[in-house]
Amino acid sequence: MTIFDKILAGEIPADRVYENDDVLAFRDINPQAPVHVLVIPKTRWSSLIGLADADPAAAGRFMAGVAATARELGLEESGYRTVFNTGDDAQQTVRYLHAHILGGRKMNWPPG
Ligand code: C5P
Repeated sequence: MTIFDKILAGEIPADRVYENDDVLAFRDINPQAPVHVLVIPKTRWSSLIGLADADPAAAGRFMAGVAATARELGLEESGYRTVFNTGDDAQQTVRYLHAHILGGRKMNWPPG
């Protein structure tokens, strides 16, 4: 059980911005850009590898949900960054698969 399980279950409030059958998207509590939204699949996986190995079609639907969220946020024209932090080296803090969508400013590269 993670904090995102509780958000999905409605046990913890979140600023929800998009939802469909496969994903839930909500604003990050500690935003790193003017727009910072997290997208989670409605079935819990700890990483993209786990999901893609188990159910490639579901992985595709998850990515479609990430794209739909970016469009819903109005970022299609301006651009945006999508980040998956996975495991210790990436300093993943919540072990529930999530995509970060960051936008509303120019991004730097390389990331830290
Ligand atoms: O990719 P990583 O696991 O580091 O990111 C987790 C993200 O979840 C953080 O950006 C953190 O601000 C966010 N978070 C949140 N709401 C919570 C707990 C964490 O938006 N209740």
